[in-house]
Amino acid sequence: MIGFFRHELFMKHLAGYNHVESPQRVEAILARIKKSPIASSLSFIEAEPAKIEWLERVHDPKYVKNILALEIDEPVVLDWGDTVATKVTPAAALHAAGAGVQAARLVLEGKISSAFCCVRPPGHHAERSRAMGFCIFNNIAVAAAHLVEEAGLKRVAIVDWDVHHGNGTESMFIEDDRVLYISLHQYPHYPGTGSAETIGSGKGQGYTINLPMSAGSGDREYLAAFRDRIVPALDEFRPEFILISAGFDAHEDDPLSGIVLTTSAFRTMTELLKASAEKHCKGRIVSMLEGGYDLSALAESVEGHVTVLAI
Ligand SMILES: [Zn+2]
Repeated sequence: MIGFFRHELFMKHLAGYNHVESPQRVEAILARIKKSPIASSLSFIEAEPAKIEWLERVHDPKYVKNILALEIDEPVVLDWGDTVATKVTPAAALHAAGAGVQAARLVLEGKISSAFCCVRPPGHHAERSRAMGFCIFNNIAVAAAHLVEEAGLKRVAIVDWDVHHGNGTESMFIEDDRVLYISLHQYPHYPGTGSAETIGSGKGQGYTINLPMSAGSGDREYLAAFRDRIVPALDEFRPEFILISAGFDAHEDDPLSGIVLTTSAFRTMTELLKASAEKHCKGRIVSMLEGGYDLSALAESVEGHVTVLAI
């Protein structure tokens, strides 16, 4: 059974007026999933809030405290204009980060086989002490840190196919050989990081793999990168758990990118990671929503992604 994590708060958090990172994103996904034949194979689970100590594994305690103490009457700008908090934002961010840990625990306990966390706000740009790029807490990093620190896993892979580089996630594990971070992203593009030369440092050297893609790249380039680089890297690393930073903004219809993936590429990428997870770690996958801003492309791509996870 696949866990599908959701919460009302993810539909209430407003990232600003007329912002692309809108509640309609999650509404469009849920509307599509509910009508999908796959709905009967999903276990819909309400996300729980993260504990403060889970957040503090990757975030500065002062930053966590400041976010949770926000008292908001008018929208508050957290990061030069593009990351805005409104009244329910701290609670939504807390539940978005909690969902990943909760999903990872249930997968480890064998209660669900894998999971998709349909969360907002997204997470992969959030840094240790800084909100950035619509992200408040780094949801996927909180889940990875739980797996290595609390569950004691020695090898956790994060595959990040959001069209933007996950600068926050990369920086949190740049010196860590327990977490392999692999990112495919348009480059150069926001946030500017993610060159192929960044490969990790210290003990973490070789455990960061950046696969920059030029604008105009599509299914052929992405699937070649999966077959030539990502699958072999996972075979070498032998992950005990695979996390996916699942952004769908590399879709050809997405307004925020110049990458032109079709909906079917997201299915194929999911199939390849699922095969890798089955080979190395009993199929353990937790996927977390990051970006994706064309509502119908997003809903259709998530349906395909979840369907592949579930069948
Ligand atoms: Zn993105």
